[in-house]
Amino acid sequence: MAKGSKKKDAKKKDAKKNGKVEAVVRSPEAYPDYRVAPGERIMLPAIDANQSEGYERKRDVLDELEEQRLRIQDLQGKLYAENKHGLLIVLQAMDTGGKDGAIKHVFSGVNPQGCRISSFKAPNPEEANHDFLWRYHKSAPAVGRIGIFNRSHYEDVLVVRVKNLVPEEVWRPRYELINNFEWNLTQNNISVIKFYLHISKDEQKRRLESRLADPNKRWKFSTNDLKERAYWEDYQRAFEDAIYATSTEYAPWYVIPANKKWYRNLAIARAIADTLEAIDPQFPPAEKGLEKITIPD
Ligand code: ATP
Ligand code: MG
Repeated sequence: MAKGSKKKDAKKKDAKKNGKVEAVVRSPEAYPDYRVAPGERIMLPAIDANQSEGYERKRDVLDELEEQRLRIQDLQGKLYAENKHGLLIVLQAMDTGGKDGAIKHVFSGVNPQGCRISSFKAPNPEEANHDFLWRYHKSAPAVGRIGIFNRSHYEDVLVVRVKNLVPEEVWRPRYELINNFEWNLTQNNISVIKFYLHISKDEQKRRLESRLADPNKRWKFSTNDLKERAYWEDYQRAFEDAIYATSTEYAPWYVIPANKKWYRNLAIARAIADTLEAIDPQFPPAEKGLEKITIPD
């Protein structure tokens, strides 16, 4: 390791110890936040999944990513200590879109005690016998915690719609039910943010090919992903409609350009750090009179 970078690491550690985070190079106004305004109708094919603000390679953003991670760690510590507010982070994407990678890279270093990841597959028989929100509500975070949904209640207006698993008169009212569910969470001090990791169809092809070609990645390849790929356009339409119907002031969607994995991680980390900062968690006040205390031998 180079001397300079060792010094930098030590500086970062110091900043962490003191509960301080190094100044972020760029203020939130200086970067695109990819937030979808309420009532805005996005067209996914018109959004460039390759964009990266002119950054060309991973190493261009590593320092800022680290700073954003430190912000998240610092704010998460306060969120936990204060125990008044929580945060639900929803991750949705097409297959190979990078939900797992984003979790790994953005949350590395976050105290696992205050954070829970819930992954949702097709409902089991017990879940299927309940209202569609039941299993998600059970996994929603408590105050003091960050909950990450790897797939979510949105599957019930995505795969369920595309694959005709229930008729339209059942899935269509779900947009409103979802808005009500998220409103209920926010009214109970659980903030909600939602990410759609936007990759292009070509990029999905490349990622599937690389899973096939690399023996260490082959376990990730599922022939089911090919079946789903055949419905690409239908899924894109379902995402556009879901985002349109449910990007609200209180629970916004972010459409993140995700062809470049390192840029995706940075854009997500910024949005999460900014959301936590807006929650503004504070360490609870210390007991009075602590300055007079000495710890007996
Ligand atoms: P990986 O990155 O490991 O592939 P994944 O999230 O794609 O992660 P899979 O086990 O491959 O996990 O896929 C989960 C499947 O469960 C998806 O095809 C998804 O559409 C399906 N699923 C999730 N929720 C529902 C639901 N409510 N109804 C029907 N199918 C669902
Ligand atoms: Mg999969």
